[in-house]
Amino acid sequence: MDAAGPAVLIAPTEIPCTGCGLIVEGGTDGCQALFDAETARAYADARFAARRRMVVDTYCLQHPDRYCVSAISLAAHLTGVCVAVEHRGVEDAVNAAIQRWLSRRPQLDKPAIPDGRGTLTIADLRTTSDPAEHARLAEAWARATWDAYSPVHAVARGWVDHVDREPRD
Ligand SMILES: [Zn+2]
Repeated sequence: MDAAGPAVLIAPTEIPCTGCGLIVEGGTDGCQALFDAETARAYADARFAARRRMVVDTYCLQHPDRYCVSAISLAAHLTGVCVAVEHRGVEDAVNAAIQRWLSRRPQLDKPAIPDGRGTLTIADLRTTSDPAEHARLAEAWARATWDAYSPVHAVARGWVDHVDREPRD
């Protein structure tokens, strides 16, 4: 028992993240700290890195003001989540083709980004400590975020299909 102060402190700095809406100490910065901690875990333990690309793309889609400013960056993260959810078996090949396409800096129209960001956040992923549960939660988080982006599904699928039709270089 700590006699120096109350056992429970209400953090006055718990505010919503401007990206995903998570209520967290430090708001947007606190949310980013959770993501940084997740990044550190993935580097330290490969069991938590199996779907790393999907985790990064999902976080970026939930924080577009920071990570999806240009049409190219939005396209990279949006197609990444699209491929993770809808093209699971060929994820690496399709992502590589998209990477080659975007590296040529195509002229893209950036669609309006939906206000809703889905029901799960990085905080949910951070509650997991078992690798199988982590993988399941990461998948659910990506799907929930993809669902929140339904107004731009057609644009995302168009970009993925465009790459599928491109000659391999
Ligand atoms: Zn956030």
